Amino acid sequence: MKYHISAKTKLLCLIGHPVEHSMSPIMHNAVLKQMGMDFVYVAFSVISKSLKKAVKGIKALNIKGVNVTIPHKQNIIPYLDYIDPLAKNIGAVNTIKNEDGTLKATNTDARGAKDALLNAGCKISGKNIVILGAGGAARALCFTLGEDAELLTIANRTEHKAKELAEEIRKKLDVKVEGYSNNPRIINNLVKKADILINSTPVGMFPDINQIPIPESIIHSDLFVFDIIYNPIKTLLINKAEKVGCNTLGGLDMLVNQGALAFEWWTGKKPDTTIMKNKIIEYMGHDHVRQ
Ligand code: NAP
Repeated sequence: MKYHISAKTKLLCLIGHPVEHSMSPIMHNAVLKQMGMDFVYVAFSVISKSLKKAVKGIKALNIKGVNVTIPHKQNIIPYLDYIDPLAKNIGAVNTIKNEDGTLKATNTDARGAKDALLNAGCKISGKNIVILGAGGAARALCFTLGEDAELLTIANRTEHKAKELAEEIRKKLDVKVEGYSNNPRIINNLVKKADILINSTPVGMFPDINQIPIPESIIHSDLFVFDIIYNPIKTLLINKAEKVGCNTLGGLDMLVNQGALAFEWWTGKKPDTTIMKNKIIEYMGHDHVRQ
């Protein structure tokens, strides 16, 4: 099938700041082309003070679908027309659909992460999960994994943020949840008892690929280790966990899943996630790090 960008082509986009590192245009355009769909996906760098004007622009330019990334996932909410219950609980959106001028929003990071874990053979139900970090991604993880987990423990550099997030989850979900600082002694005790360890901090992300968010010595073989970082595709944490014999998962599947869920919502068609994933791997090059 021939693929043209014409005067009829419909627009999908990402807004955030910065956006230059994003893999979303790569994976979305790959499947749009393969499916012969008359859409194109581009990225717009939008600074915080221009966010309201950018949202007006979505309606004015009839942009059909939008992904939202750092730093707008929370601040954009007041400018939208409808937020679904999951995104409302999380307090952050990453996907918007423009339905005849009505902007509806959801959070596909949450289901993207859970599906990635389940597809990797990780059982969530009844498990003790330790989450490093208490930022936007941690919120999405907590609200979706908290539906099934036995115990959620959030360990964060800024302790009060972990405690506040735990308190918020406790009010909204029926799960045991605790918040702590990321003090090494505390982390050591938490990880000893955990079934699943999730890194939702940027520690280990390019360019600081030689960093690890917890001491290597406390990783034990009964842990399932999920690092949501996808650049590099395999972080130092994942490499060390593999050496100990843990089951592991990197962030690429979550990234692809959240994109695929958004794509399906916008277009009504299920994309081939293998194509999306392979295109990102190809784009990242042989060393699997995007510089
Ligand atoms: P965020 O909202 O900025 O939160 C970052 C969290 O990490 C905060 O809790 C912060 O602690 C903590 N942190 C930052 N630097 C740290 C350090 N040097 N040591 C210890 N803790 C540190 O960011 P986010 O949106 O949650 O994203 C976090 C990571 O997840 C990024 O690497 C991002 O690329 C990745 N991510 C992946 C996907 C995916 O699809 N795979 C999706 C979303 C995000 P404080 O509270 O103390 O600041």
